[in-house]
Amino acid sequence: MLESKAIDVERLRADFPILSRKVRGKRLVYLDNAATTQRPQVVIDSLVRFYSNYNSNVHRSVHTLGEEATAAYEGSRKKTAAFVGARPQDLVFVRGTTEATNLVSFAWGDKNMKKGDVIVVTTMEHHSNIVPWQMLAKRSGAILKYVGLNPDGTLDLGSFEALLREAPRLVAFTHCSNVLGTINDAAKLCAMAKEAGATTLVDGAQAVPHMPVDVGAIDSDFYAFSGHKMLGPTGIGALVARRGLLEEMDPFQTGGEMIREVFDDHSTWNDIPYKFEAGTVNIADGIALGAAVDYLESIGMERVRAHEVSLLDYAMNELTAIRGIRLYGPMDTRLRAGVISFNYADVHPHDLATILDEEGVAIRSGHHCAQPLMRWLDVPAASRASFYVYNSHDDVDALKLAIEKAGRIFKV
Ligand code: PMP
Repeated sequence: MLESKAIDVERLRADFPILSRKVRGKRLVYLDNAATTQRPQVVIDSLVRFYSNYNSNVHRSVHTLGEEATAAYEGSRKKTAAFVGARPQDLVFVRGTTEATNLVSFAWGDKNMKKGDVIVVTTMEHHSNIVPWQMLAKRSGAILKYVGLNPDGTLDLGSFEALLREAPRLVAFTHCSNVLGTINDAAKLCAMAKEAGATTLVDGAQAVPHMPVDVGAIDSDFYAFSGHKMLGPTGIGALVARRGLLEEMDPFQTGGEMIREVFDDHSTWNDIPYKFEAGTVNIADGIALGAAVDYLESIGMERVRAHEVSLLDYAMNELTAIRGIRLYGPMDTRLRAGVISFNYADVHPHDLATILDEEGVAIRSGHHCAQPLMRWLDVPAASRASFYVYNSHDDVDALKLAIEKAGRIFKV
C-alpha cells in the first residue's frame, strides 16, 4: 500500500538537517545529488552512536564493544546485500565504486587478462570505469574498445554487438550515466556479453540509489556502488560478485585481517569476503550505510523512482521552455534517471553555476569525470542538475528562475 503513495517531500525534508540551512541568504536548493547526496539524521546519529557508545575494532576482540561493533558492521553487510538482492558473503565493503573497479582490475584482471584480449567499455562511462581498464590494458597488453552511442544518448546496440563479435574478455558498463541519465538495460547487456563469453562488470553508482536493483536478475559477474550517493557516508561502498568468483580471485590489498595463516615465506587467505577487506575496515561508515539502506527501504525504491520520474517530467518540460537551453540524453523519462545535463546558450557552465549559487541553487558544472563522453557531445563542459528524494517541484522552479536570471545577466 505504502509503495503506491507519493513521497511526502515536506515531511521527508525535515529528516535532513542540512536542508534547513541558508546559502547566501536563500533557501538551499540542493541539485547536486549525482555528485553526492545529503544525509538524514538517522545516518548522522548512527555515526555518533558508534563513536560515543561502542567504538571498537571488528572481527578481533571478544570484549563487549568489539562484539557489538562486529555485529553492527556485519548486520549492515547483510542489509546492504539484501537491498540489491545479493548474499552477504558476496559483498565486499570498499571505499566506493572507484575502489571496486580498481579491485577488479587488479584482483581479477591481472590473473585473467592476456596480451591481445579485448576489454569493452562504453562512451558514456565515468572515468572510474575507464582508467582502471586503461591501466589493466597497459599491464597486460589487452586492448580497450568503446561502444558507441545513438544521437539521443542511448547505447548503440549495433556497435555493442559488433564488439561482442571480437569475443571480449571483459565488458564493463554503467547501469546509469551520471551525465546523460541514460538507464542501460543491464540484464540484457549482461546476457549478451555472457553469450559472447565475457566477464561483466556493472557500475551501479547512479542506479542503486535511484531505482530498485536486483543483481540476481541482472546476472552480472561484478556490480559496484557507492554509499555516499544513497544517503550514506563517504568512504564506503560495495562490490558484489557472482557466487564463487571472489574465491577464484587473488587478493587486492594484503596485510592484516585478510589472511588465515602467515608463514615466513607465504600466507593463506581468509574466507570471502574478508579476503578482500585488508586492515582495519571503515567500521563507522559501514554501519551507517546500513542506516541509509533502512531509510531508503522505509520509503521504498519504487516510490523513489516514481518521485524522480515526476521531477524529471516536470523539469524537462520547464527547462526546454527556456530559449537557448540544450539538454543532453534521452528525452523519454522512462529511459533516464533524475539527472539533467545541459548547456545554456554560450554561458560557460562555471559562470552559470556561480550565478545559481547566488540564488542558493547548487548544481555541478564541468566535465563530470566523463571526458570521452564530453568529446562525443562536442562540448568542453556542461551544467548538471540531479534530483533525489527530498527535491520538490519548487526546487525545479527555483532552478528555472535562477537560469532565467543568468540569461538576463548574460543577455541570452
Ligand atoms: N560511476 C559513476 C556513474 C559515478 O557517477 C561515480 C561518481 N560520480 C562513480 C562511478 C565513482 O564513484 P565514487 O567517486 O563514489 O567512487
